[in-house]
Amino acid sequence: MISWKEVLRLKKETHPDFIFVRRNNSHFMDFFWRVNNFCCEAQNSEIRLKINCIGERSGSAKRSGTRMLNSTTFLQVHTPPVKAFYSDHFVLPLPQGHRFPMQKYRMLRDGVAAELPRVSFEEAPYTTDGVLALAHHPLYIERVSHGLLSDKEQKAIGFPWTPQMVERSRRSSGATISACRAAFDSGVAVNLAGGTHHAYADHGEGFCIFNDAAIAARLMQAERRARRVAVIDLDVHQGNGTAAILANDDSVFTFSVHGQNNYPFAKETSDLDIALPDGVEDDEYLASLKEGLDTLFSRFAPDLLIYLAGADPHEGDRLGKMKLTLAGLAARDRMVFDRARERGLPVAVAMAGGYGKNIQDTVAVHLQTIAIASTYAGTAGLEQTASAE
Ligand SMILES: [Zn+2]
Repeated sequence: MISWKEVLRLKKETHPDFIFVRRNNSHFMDFFWRVNNFCCEAQNSEIRLKINCIGERSGSAKRSGTRMLNSTTFLQVHTPPVKAFYSDHFVLPLPQGHRFPMQKYRMLRDGVAAELPRVSFEEAPYTTDGVLALAHHPLYIERVSHGLLSDKEQKAIGFPWTPQMVERSRRSSGATISACRAAFDSGVAVNLAGGTHHAYADHGEGFCIFNDAAIAARLMQAERRARRVAVIDLDVHQGNGTAAILANDDSVFTFSVHGQNNYPFAKETSDLDIALPDGVEDDEYLASLKEGLDTLFSRFAPDLLIYLAGADPHEGDRLGKMKLTLAGLAARDRMVFDRARERGLPVAVAMAGGYGKNIQDTVAVHLQTIAIASTYAGTAGLEQTASAE
């Protein structure tokens, strides 16, 4: 429960036109209702929102079915903490001078702890072989686990093999899995790493070993939390591994917006690809993204979004060839969350890449994404306790 003041703040700060209602103990989005015209009243010591509502099924296969609720519904309101799953303390040892900015993850966690009090931290769980096998060949899992990859394969990944590398990769996948599960409860949750989208079923590359988004999407389906999942990949590099793993899977929609001249140079085919030229700026990027999201939601009705919020489209990135500003990236994030909010969709966020000339810039972009995500969580996850249907 939250205080009366908090209810008023919530009403003022979040979208005043509607809130989402979720029935108790429901995992499926069928039970999200869009409501409007809500007002606050206090009864006994409980804070309740009394709402006049127009119910509309959204975010599910049954979207066409509209149901009207009668006059009032009472809600118990709570603002759930936004869960952030971390794995940076499972240190992946790198030789001195290695170009991967490993320290960004710890800096990000420190930044979130300092600036976003609504975010709560949980250690990322370990991912077992059986779960990894939802997206990877068993032989690849075994060869990675026991350090049996060839020098060439290890070089393509870009990290030297160590047991810690395997542990951390399993934990990072576990963080995306946990973020997906938590998003069904509170609307949004984040993995403070992940987005390892260059990992294929049978090999890794580009600092990616296991494909967390593909694994998590498949596991949410296996756990019957979601029927259809959309992966929205806004890292500057194409999600080639994700596209390849899910190429023949109609239940997962892969959408990638990337630099046409950025790695990988041979692109895979996602369900929707938007390749942008070098030097693209905020306006052009955002117009393309808007068009892409329109296309995605016209072709596909997901139950869950997995959002790879790469920081490498930023103008200060060493590798990305785009020129997005910090404000442009905020608009990007809001566009994704607004679309999710309109449809009552849970969102699991993974960080993906970021290689700023100044590492602080990369951390600032990621931190901004989590700050925006956490405001989105405030409008989801309301708990319906009684209904006068
Ligand atoms: Zn990237």
